[in-house]
Amino acid sequence: MKNEELKNRDLEVLWHPCTQMKDHEVLPLTPIKKAYGVYLEDFEENKYIDAVSSWWVNLFGHTNKYINEKIKEQLDTLEHVIIAGFTHEPVVRLSERLVKLTPKGLDKCFYADNGSSAVEVALKMSYHANLNDGKNKPLFVSLTNSYHGETIGALSVGDVELYKDTYKPLLIQSVQTPVPKDTTIEAAREAAQQFEELCKKRAEEISAIILEPLIQGAGYMHMYHPEFLVLVRDICDRYDIHLIADEVMVGFGRTGEMFACDVAGVSPDFIVLSKGLTGGYLPLSVVLTSNEIYMKFYCDYNEYKAFLHSHSYTGNALACAAANATLDIFENENIIEKNKELSAYMAKRLEEFKDLENVDHVRQRGMVCAIELKGYTAEERIGLKVYQHGLKNGVLLRPLGHIVYFMPPYVITQEECDKMFDVALEAIKTL
Ligand SMILES: *Cc1c(COP(=O)(O)O)cnc(C)c1O
Repeated sequence: MKNEELKNRDLEVLWHPCTQMKDHEVLPLTPIKKAYGVYLEDFEENKYIDAVSSWWVNLFGHTNKYINEKIKEQLDTLEHVIIAGFTHEPVVRLSERLVKLTPKGLDKCFYADNGSSAVEVALKMSYHANLNDGKNKPLFVSLTNSYHGETIGALSVGDVELYKDTYKPLLIQSVQTPVPKDTTIEAAREAAQQFEELCKKRAEEISAIILEPLIQGAGYMHMYHPEFLVLVRDICDRYDIHLIADEVMVGFGRTGEMFACDVAGVSPDFIVLSKGLTGGYLPLSVVLTSNEIYMKFYCDYNEYKAFLHSHSYTGNALACAAANATLDIFENENIIEKNKELSAYMAKRLEEFKDLENVDHVRQRGMVCAIELKGYTAEERIGLKVYQHGLKNGVLLRPLGHIVYFMPPYVITQEECDKMFDVALEAIKTL
């Protein structure tokens, strides 16, 4: 098979996500035959460094030997079983480990199969927990510039216009409060104060605030100070509002600590996890919450307080095996410590971008680096040019508008890192 053949067959039958399909008249698809470590390889043996971890999911490389082995073991034992009324070892073990690993006070795990549906679970649980307490609070707060997924509920609490505006008439009630405008502690305090102003007026109606701790991923890798989380936690306590931490992207070491909430020493009422949960192998997501919230649903059947939410593949055994293998690697290889070296190295390389003419500024938190370009209009599609230059030179970069970012798998070597930065540097210089 050839690259060309597969591209043509694809366009006959596929509709790709988040894509203007007409672009493919001029912008070729990249068929991938196989992948290993940080590399993707096409049918003509061209290799690409996966600098975006295949949409932020991959942690320990593609076709990782250890994870492969664990999934194969599970495949020959139990592939899937209904987990209403039934259970299995991988899901129990995973839940025990997640309860231990996540910030304290998160005691129960509820599974779904992608980030958006887990966000929906958290929103519904928060609203329903209040309702079971006799309080009807139909309003959700989120931050400006936030992203929480694409299903209607998740889209409703997001604030990326490009994804949201078209569907406005379909959305549930939400209101946005300003995200801290930069990484300073002053900006964090100012934004927290604005949230408190909103609470003073509308706390009675508000079930929860949902936020992406420390880094707004799809919101152009915008970053803010951990103090904001501390202040928001305190405001939530004082105004009887749940805090939902959407760690779908930032979870599992992306910010430098295992979870972004750990950086601030904050425990949310709900934490939402997906993406890195299975090491980037299989769709799985989970919401953890407190025993206190769990108990608000716990009563005799005829009191009608149960959380009657489910997905066909809830708690899939293969996905749980992949997640357990991923957590094994974190434990056995001291990944969070090792990543500190890697992230310090990336910081050094990032310095080189600072003084480029068309670079506004650079930012980094842990394993996420971003370069903000200046002086371009949306029509120039500057990100697309960087993307194309990257592909031609063996690196998959997928800028968000005018933001070039790096979020590589944790197994990337210094040498591979150099290649990734060199290609991006060249791409930006030649714009
Ligand atoms: C990707 C993402 C989601 C949505 O997850 P999907 O699996 O794509 O539905 C939600 N929240 C954040 C912060 C994300 O980055």
